[in-house]
Amino acid sequence: MLKILTLVPVLAALASPALAASGLVEPSLKMQPGKAAAPRVAITLDACMGKTDFRILDTLVNEKIPATIFVTARWLAHNPQALAVMLSHPDLFELENHGENHIPAVDKPVSIYGIAAAGSTAAVEQEVEGGRLAVAAATGHQPQWFRGATAKYTASSIATINGLGERIAGYSVNGDGGSLLRAGMTAKHIASAKDGDVVIAHINQPTHEAGEGVVRGLLALKARGVIFTRLDDPAFNAPSN
Ligand SMILES: [Zn+2]
Repeated sequence: MLKILTLVPVLAALASPALAASGLVEPSLKMQPGKAAAPRVAITLDACMGKTDFRILDTLVNEKIPATIFVTARWLAHNPQALAVMLSHPDLFELENHGENHIPAVDKPVSIYGIAAAGSTAAVEQEVEGGRLAVAAATGHQPQWFRGATAKYTASSIATINGLGERIAGYSVNGDGGSLLRAGMTAKHIASAKDGDVVIAHINQPTHEAGEGVVRGLLALKARGVIFTRLDDPAFNAPSN
């Protein structure tokens, strides 16, 4: 047991310089401090590809919990039923851009979690614009926020995305560890969100245990009296530009 414990900081020390050397950044995002009486938390859920976790979608609808959903063109094409539910509750759901084909918006040829990045500025632009067009076609609204697959970028790819008129949607609480965590741990992460936090989790893995944890975490936050906000809330307005 002692050996395992002493290994952890060593691994952490090795991991940080490796990430820095890769030139990849993973921006965080929080709300500006507000004067609300209750803590405010923004739930952001990625619909990368594949299907829809209706355990989560039904909970959001039944409990009237607003959320920002990051959709890809690919997911939109295969989930008309879930899209219809979201569009029929504009008071609850804000749909934003998760890209065209779930390719990391990184402008150099690297592999992230085994996914090949876009690899060039032109390919990043294609991923962002393809996603934007699909969201606009599905919702009638231009997306304001972009979150790339894996949520990692380079400084130059962030500049490219901003140049296309979209802001980078970071987060401050990793709810479900890429939908790979157990239900209990996922619920614990989400329930731990504090005032101003932006939670990330997934809504496209109906067979994963993590989805059950997302539901439990959301219900725990609601029971605590949290005010749920979305990324179109004025609390996310940038002080400049
Ligand atoms: Zn994704």
